[in-house]
Amino acid sequence: MNNSAQELLFLGFGSQRKVSSTALPHHNLLDLKKLDLHELTTIEELGDAHVGSRELTPLREDAFELSDNEKIEIIQEHFAKIMETLGLDLTDDSLKGTPYRVAKMYVKEIFEGLNPKNRPEARTFSNGYDYSDMVIEKNIQVTSFCEHHFLPFIGKAHVAYISKGKVIGLSKINRLVDYFARRPQVQERLTLQIADALSEAMETEDVAVFIDSKHLCVSTRGIKDHSSSTVTSEFRGAFKDKDVQQKFIDFVKTDTQL
Ligand SMILES: [Zn+2]
Repeated sequence: MNNSAQELLFLGFGSQRKVSSTALPHHNLLDLKKLDLHELTTIEELGDAHVGSRELTPLREDAFELSDNEKIEIIQEHFAKIMETLGLDLTDDSLKGTPYRVAKMYVKEIFEGLNPKNRPEARTFSNGYDYSDMVIEKNIQVTSFCEHHFLPFIGKAHVAYISKGKVIGLSKINRLVDYFARRPQVQERLTLQIADALSEAMETEDVAVFIDSKHLCVSTRGIKDHSSSTVTSEFRGAFKDKDVQQKFIDFVKTDTQL
């Protein structure tokens, strides 16, 4: 089974069970009051360690049973509650539209990559010109959100493959990166998901993904380190070879003036 099929299965696709918008499972939300101090400490530590538990984004089986508009309505309500709890006056002209803006942004923009219906088509063509060296798409903008703090991490992805007979429209690689970035994420999982998607589309193991990004949860809170960045990489197939890997890194480092 290929990865996207696996992901669809994981997401519970195929089960067409209908739920009403009122069936949002509030009762399954994490009840912080019931957690003891040890569990809360573990949650805090896990967040700062940025541990990703699974390669597949952990989604509920009923993740897409509500429509986008139903989700926006529910999130809007809950976000208003958060703001009210913080003591903000939602009758203020500047604030009153915020819950809706945030809800719409979550569903339609920054987390739209949760929904497989938004996955870009990665159409490939046969490689008619016998180009056999690596193809690198570098400096791809990454804007994602850390799933532990819901704060952005922003950086660059460099993605490469060696064709086994197929080529892909280069902008499709950017779109794949963007799709997987538009989720609550951990950078390690994002790296693997891009490698999987590219490998599946190109029908080759010979793929490399390198991401360097700044996490706002590191710079704006906790340790408040503004200078550090986080690097993750995945080298598969031919890219496991040290020389091939070095060549990829050398190409990524070139600064061609255009
Ligand atoms: Zn974080």
